[in-house]
Amino acid sequence: MDLFEYQAKELFAEYGVPVPQGKVASTPEEARVIAEEFAAAGKPRVVVKAQVKTGGRGKAGGVKVADGPDDATAKAEQILGMDIKGHTVHRVLVEEASDIAEEYYFSFLLDRANRTFLSICSAEGGMEIEEVAVSNPDAVAKVSIDAIQGAPAEIAAAIVAQGKLPEAAAKGATELVTKLWDVFVAKDATLVEVNPLILTKDGNVVALDGKVTLDENAEFRQDLDALSFAAEGDPLEVKAKEKGLNYVKLDGEVGIIGNGAGLVMSTLDVVAYAGEEHGGVKPANFLDIGGGASAEVMANGLEIILGDPAVKSVFVNVFGGITSCDAVANGIVQALELLEAGDSDVSKPLVVRLDGNNAELGRKILNDRNHPAVRQVATMDGAAAQAAELAAK
Ligand code: GDP
Ligand code: MN
Repeated sequence: MDLFEYQAKELFAEYGVPVPQGKVASTPEEARVIAEEFAAAGKPRVVVKAQVKTGGRGKAGGVKVADGPDDATAKAEQILGMDIKGHTVHRVLVEEASDIAEEYYFSFLLDRANRTFLSICSAEGGMEIEEVAVSNPDAVAKVSIDAIQGAPAEIAAAIVAQGKLPEAAAKGATELVTKLWDVFVAKDATLVEVNPLILTKDGNVVALDGKVTLDENAEFRQDLDALSFAAEGDPLEVKAKEKGLNYVKLDGEVGIIGNGAGLVMSTLDVVAYAGEEHGGVKPANFLDIGGGASAEVMANGLEIILGDPAVKSVFVNVFGGITSCDAVANGIVQALELLEAGDSDVSKPLVVRLDGNNAELGRKILNDRNHPAVRQVATMDGAAAQAAELAAK
């Protein structure tokens, strides 16, 4: 889970990492109030920063320095509602402007390929580190971190030296790196990135930007809900999450339900391929109902998918394993009853393919029920072709 910059900075501050003072506003008026507080404290110059979970906000015009409350209000007005790479700006961070002498780059991340943690440090900050790594690879230091040792002072100092940060920034950057490692460990992060890390004109080293990704597998010991803004996601995804479903909204027309992530992923491929024959229809979602596939889970899944106005047909692709096809077929029958009892519209065609354990029995259950929306196809390719054709109508 990615955090907003202001959330990352709140975490940084909690661990003693120097960050500019700032507050979040969701209207220009709120931005004015914050800017007035700064002005009253003798800091009329503020920065208004779009809070969206994507980089390159500066280039997109989502980061603007303002002179005083009137200007801050106007800048907030320009930035709020802006679209940055498909993300709508709902909030801005209004913070005291920093006097930048130099911009550097620093991050800790999980290095999956090498099964370790990695620190990346460079005196060339502010721009995309991937670009620096290509244009000037010598300027980017990559130092692996031993998980047990972490980044105490001497290790942090070595990283900062390898990143070729100048003497004036060395001490401040070293302290900051050690504290960022504390954040990384305490919060179960997979990424903590500061770009730019700045040296101010009066000699302080400050985290001017912050990007933090938290490991959702650590949810059992982290309060991720407090940091997530579920309401900002796709409404269908929000609803699916409430029901505990593994659902991702895509932009096609064929609703997909399957059991097992691998099967669902290959179903997406097969449907996309079949869709090429039918005017380019595509899968409308990813939904893995997992092993159990009870009537309730099936009903919840169908409800989400049928509630998606983009969906024109649904492909239910099940391979019976521990949960056999007869159990899934009964689940589908009961799910349709539950949905009809709840006044859901179940007239969109459902193409069902059952295979594997007890497939014959499962097919018989669906045939006996003879629901008008349901049609069965024996093979995955055949079912995908039919679902795509129905969606194209
Ligand atoms: P990003 O573009 O999404 O990575 O957003 P950043 O937070 O990194 O801001 C982009 C750039 O805006 C920084 O690299 C700085 O050059 C500039 N910037 C941000 N805050 C300040 C500030 O307080 N003072 C000045 N002068 N420039 C700033
Ligand atoms: Mn940045």
